[in-house]
Amino acid sequence: MAKRKTIRTIPRERAPVGEQDPQARIRNFGEVTLRFTPEQAQHEASRCIECAKPVCTPGCPVGVDIKGFIAKIAANDLRGAYDIITETNLLPAVCGRVCPQENQCEGSCVIGNTLAPVAIGRLERFVGDTAIAEGWSNIPYIEPNGLRIGIIGSGPAGMACAADMAKAGCDVTVYEAFHVPGGVLRYGIPDFRLPNVVVDAEIANLEKLGVRFECNTLVGRLFTIEQMVGELGFDAVFIGTGAGYPSFLGIPGDSLNGVLSANELLTRCNMMQAKDRGFDTPLPIGARVAVIGSGNTAMDAMRVCRRLGAEEVHCIYRRSRAEAPARLEEVHHAEQEGIDFHWLTAPVAILDDGKGGVRGMRCIRMELGEPDASGRRRPVAVKGSEYEFACDLVVVAIGTNANPIIGQTSKIKLDKRGYIATDETLATSLAGVYAGGDIVTGAATVIQAMGAGRKAASSMIAYLGLRDTDAVYRAPASAEAALFGLDPGEHNFVRVRTA
Ligand SMILES: Cc1cc2nc3c(=O)[nH]c(=O)nc-3n(C[C@H](O)[C@H](O)[C@H](O)COP(=O)(O)OP(=O)(O)OC[C@H]3O[C@@H](n4cnc5c(N)ncnc54)[C@H](O)[C@@H]3O)c2cc1C
Repeated sequence: MAKRKTIRTIPRERAPVGEQDPQARIRNFGEVTLRFTPEQAQHEASRCIECAKPVCTPGCPVGVDIKGFIAKIAANDLRGAYDIITETNLLPAVCGRVCPQENQCEGSCVIGNTLAPVAIGRLERFVGDTAIAEGWSNIPYIEPNGLRIGIIGSGPAGMACAADMAKAGCDVTVYEAFHVPGGVLRYGIPDFRLPNVVVDAEIANLEKLGVRFECNTLVGRLFTIEQMVGELGFDAVFIGTGAGYPSFLGIPGDSLNGVLSANELLTRCNMMQAKDRGFDTPLPIGARVAVIGSGNTAMDAMRVCRRLGAEEVHCIYRRSRAEAPARLEEVHHAEQEGIDFHWLTAPVAILDDGKGGVRGMRCIRMELGEPDASGRRRPVAVKGSEYEFACDLVVVAIGTNANPIIGQTSKIKLDKRGYIATDETLATSLAGVYAGGDIVTGAATVIQAMGAGRKAASSMIAYLGLRDTDAVYRAPASAEAALFGLDPGEHNFVRVRTA
């Protein structure tokens, strides 16, 4: 029997991962963090002590069997590792790159109490990338049931719901407003963090399940949700339209030329070829750019501006580095790339250059007071500390809201903030219509959106009377729990009962 691993017997240091040199990478959109080599992956897998009761899996919003897939890597069975991950996670190559593992699986890893936790995200990416390179996918036998499902939005929530509904035998159509699918994975997160080829590969796997994507289709304008469940004949609908409607500052100068939202900047760069030469959709970038905010979106916007040729990029944030909502790794990479951080600073006006453009901002220094509702210390303006700050482009990355179109064109119930209201099963106020991801919670994370898509799929499966293909078969607890000797969880049970 193999000797049990302990904290004393495993390698103390994480496998070092390669990164593009900061000076080189600010001139290209290639990935910053390189993938593990097979040797690095083996080293890192050997650091997992295979806890009897792993706490990393409950730390993952979709419950990946982390201990199981790492053991397969250690045994050099990468296909086995891929099979384990994809039992619960559709997008390993995406999640391995962008999940905030430090707050989830790696944040719970017991090794982290003494040493650096096992690099679970990098191992997941290693398996996901290997699967793409080898052309692996897990397509189960699917028995068509004739039911039609409409999904609105092709981000991680819509994709996860589509996959589960397709596996349950439904005919699934995903409607996407943009000309290509992927949601924020495509239009928001830049190639140097998540290359589009990875998103393409994961979408191809969905197509192999039979999911159809209809792009350039803005639901609410071309047809409504009520029409989908009515004359268009969908048996159930999932809304995963995200929270892509940007907030602005509401200060003087907000609407000058040269003020744009981070979402617009990123969409023009990632989806409209603004970063490529020879296209007629350029993005004139300022010499001195100020980005307001300090979340992942702000980091992406700043690092894109750097790569598009801005001479100086400044981050303006009203709290301190400790409160910045971006992943620490992103802040670190931005610092390495020469982004100038102005912590405890807030803009109070954007200044006109006399021709309708931007010549700078008036800023004020802040200090931290008592904690607010978010638990973070509230920024308080320091009296008399205003000063002018020169810049010619202002990018606003202070958060987003629900896109209002669905609410404006349907009778669906919204919550106080304008997001779609659901019950705990993610059912909305309209029969047969479910919702999940950022359009329900507000801006969150990729894996939370995927978890919501899967949860909604499970509720839709129950609503349609289909058997949950993921559910492990258990005999009914008692004879009374079965109806006419049949398990009510069985496939097509509803039709058996009513026939
Ligand atoms: C720049 C940026 C960086 C981020 N970085 C990270 C990160 O590193 N890690 C992380 O975990 N999370 C990150 N996030 C958050 C994460 O991407 C989101 O939480 C997640 O994508 C939400 O998924 P979703 O499916 O709910 O919505 P989205 O990904 O927003 O997808 C919604 C889709 O619906 C489409 N749509 C909207 N309205 C309609 C309509 N009426 N008809 C048809 N289609 C419609 C949209 O075009 C879009 O494609 C980031 C977000 C941004 C903006």
